[in-house]
Amino acid sequence: MTTDNTRQIDDCIQLWGEILEIVKYDLGKRVYNTWFKQMQFIGFEDKVITVTVPSNFLRDFVSAKYSDYLLSVFNSHGFAAQSIRILTLDNNTPETIANSDIKQDTIIKFEEVKTSKSDNEQQEENDVNRNFRFNLNTISSLDKKLTFENFVVGRPNEFAYAAARRVAESDTPPFNPLFLYGGVGLGKTHLMHSIAWHIKETQPQKKVIYISAEKFMYLFIRALRVKDAMSFKELFRNVDVLMVDDVQFIGGKDTTQEEFFHTFNDLVDNNRQIIISADKSPSELEGVEARLKSRLGWGLVADIHPTTYELRLGILQEKVKKFKMKIPRDVIDFLAVSITSNVRELEGALNRVVAHSTLVGREVSIEMVNEVLTDVLNANKKFITIDLIQRSVCEFYRVKLSDLNSSKRIKTLVTARQVAMYLSKELTTKSLPDIGRSFGGRDHTTVLYATKKVKDQMEVNQEFKSDVEILKKALEG
Ligand code: ADP
Ligand code: MG
Repeated sequence: MTTDNTRQIDDCIQLWGEILEIVKYDLGKRVYNTWFKQMQFIGFEDKVITVTVPSNFLRDFVSAKYSDYLLSVFNSHGFAAQSIRILTLDNNTPETIANSDIKQDTIIKFEEVKTSKSDNEQQEENDVNRNFRFNLNTISSLDKKLTFENFVVGRPNEFAYAAARRVAESDTPPFNPLFLYGGVGLGKTHLMHSIAWHIKETQPQKKVIYISAEKFMYLFIRALRVKDAMSFKELFRNVDVLMVDDVQFIGGKDTTQEEFFHTFNDLVDNNRQIIISADKSPSELEGVEARLKSRLGWGLVADIHPTTYELRLGILQEKVKKFKMKIPRDVIDFLAVSITSNVRELEGALNRVVAHSTLVGREVSIEMVNEVLTDVLNANKKFITIDLIQRSVCEFYRVKLSDLNSSKRIKTLVTARQVAMYLSKELTTKSLPDIGRSFGGRDHTTVLYATKKVKDQMEVNQEFKSDVEILKKALEG
């Protein structure tokens, strides 16, 4: 805590960036972008912090809703402020106001709203901040459901899964770091939690920390502010396994990167396991120092690919087991074909269907799913092309795209090819010769024959009909 009521403006401006980071972390990016992004720090004098926002509307809203919160963040950063003054900026104000030393009176309209705290409240808050300490429980919260047992393995994630298991089962780091990367909702966090659970179970003496990169950043910045950087460093330097999730978030945060780099090196030098996840490979991470990027790629880099129909089906089958309700196979197929974005969304869709059915007592059917999930299905809807049809059909019938367009005549392949041709005719505006060309240069009469064959089959074979309909509905979204 500062003893000086009037902090140097330069000092404050430096802290300002960190305070904004904390706000972003606490309240989320959306709230931050709406209410705080354009806020500027003006000064701190006579226990009053002054900030500006560009409009009266913003000023009123932030004053009413966030001034107490903002005051507490400032005070946790060593300000001993009693109130915060939110002013509206004059339109003529230079953008770099926070860095200029123009007198306040000349640049701001004094339409201020003031909020104060009593001395008692203030004292209490300062005490809380002073007592802020790190302990394992505050940062290492693991989700019981995220275990290896609940992780469904398929082609897109088998390598990452094998690597994760290897790390979890080894005494000493088999590769360091293990770097898991892949798109959102594909199971990175799930694998990290699984590793942690496995180690807790089989090697309980090991100290394991799982932390998001954002939280790492937040704790580090806070530690610096409450002058407790030592215990922060100690905590991370004494772990056996450190997992940092979503490391892309440290891009552009130089001091945190520096600290992370040192922590990282210390742990690796001491033969401790590090596991990192990110949405991109080490070399593609934006705003990350070159030496850190290179260090991150030293161990094993394992990527998780987008899901396939087969994996989605497997995941759904696994997830429906936990519901007492019976969900028809065609609905599961339909979900697996239609919701291709990621596992999180797939899971969410299934939960919604089940919740809806339980609440209104309606039987689960494709029709019902279409109604309940209109938004998700629309978002997953794609522009239908022959290529997309071919891929979907291949996924569905589990055949290779190259085989589909070859001259091979194995039974499943023939069926898949004919269905794909039929759907291309039904769902695109392409002509028969065009479609023929897209299927390995076949003649238009072959396409015509295929569409007729599929129609006939649908008349006599219910199962086949239902397969084709599922595919069609899924493609149409
Ligand atoms: P990420 O961290 O890559 O964004 P998550 O690990 O949070 O993704 O996964 C999102 C959701 O999907 C979680 O509920 C997770 O349990 C589930 N999930 C992802 N992949 C699988 C899988 N292979 N098997 C079972 N559930 C999975
Ligand atoms: Mg995650």
